[in-house]
Amino acid sequence: MIAIIIGIYLIVGISLVAFGPAKQNISNEIQKTHGSPLVNALKGRATVPESKMILLRVMLSLGFVLLWPVMLSGVLKENAGTYNEQKPKELPDLEGLRFQLMGGYGTVSCGKCEFSEKLTSFTHGRRSSNTGYQCQTCGKFASRGYRQPFIDSDDSDYDKSILELPPEERPSRIEHLQSMIRLCEGQMEKTPKGEWLPTWEPTVTKNRQELSAVSEEELAQIKGIRDQVDAAYKASLFCECGGILDREQVLFCPRCRSTKLSYKMKYIT
Ligand SMILES: [Zn+2]
Ligand SMILES: [Zn+2]
Repeated sequence: MIAIIIGIYLIVGISLVAFGPAKQNISNEIQKTHGSPLVNALKGRATVPESKMILLRVMLSLGFVLLWPVMLSGVLKENAGTYNEQKPKELPDLEGLRFQLMGGYGTVSCGKCEFSEKLTSFTHGRRSSNTGYQCQTCGKFASRGYRQPFIDSDDSDYDKSILELPPEERPSRIEHLQSMIRLCEGQMEKTPKGEWLPTWEPTVTKNRQELSAVSEEELAQIKGIRDQVDAAYKASLFCECGGILDREQVLFCPRCRSTKLSYKMKYIT
């Protein structure tokens, strides 16, 4: 009897993850953690390696399967409130669609005219990503690709120190160490010393020590390449009409300018 109850419990949990509302939440969580490479770069964050993302997905899914009665109400609440694409009709018109809340690739349709178009909001692969924008002048939707200039460590190299890494994997590791230092130091600055997490100080010390083996020339070269790639990307954020491409504003229909748009996601990566 107990085995049957446990069986049903697990089947419900698995179904919720595989087909139910939890699927979208897990994807959103993954996307939040992964972030956009440009945003990561601008904020000095390293992009989380793909292997870690898979692990995160497995852990989130497993956690949900085991604890679904506790987590379900939170998931449902989040789905009802945050994601326009799932329940567009329940939100007031003023809210509108925003790229940040639209996942992946899908179709945007106007509720006032016949306009409908496929667009990318945000998708990513191992080293590249595509980010959607709208021209604030003519309303045209566009996407721009960002390609990581450096390759991440192989999974097997993840625990190796800088000195042991193949040369082509050094820049990405160096950026990662730097961003961890910035992250910890940033936290240490705004947190009273008594409340510091025990990992912050040792991380800064360890990473600084590892970076001390890297020459100034190499650091400057890496920064130069990253700055160049970021600058080129920034320079590409203009429409053919000369208008600015933006993804912060509420989306509007390119044909009739209505903000009464809906979005149906086709896939997310
Ligand atoms: Zn329209
Ligand atoms: Zn334009």
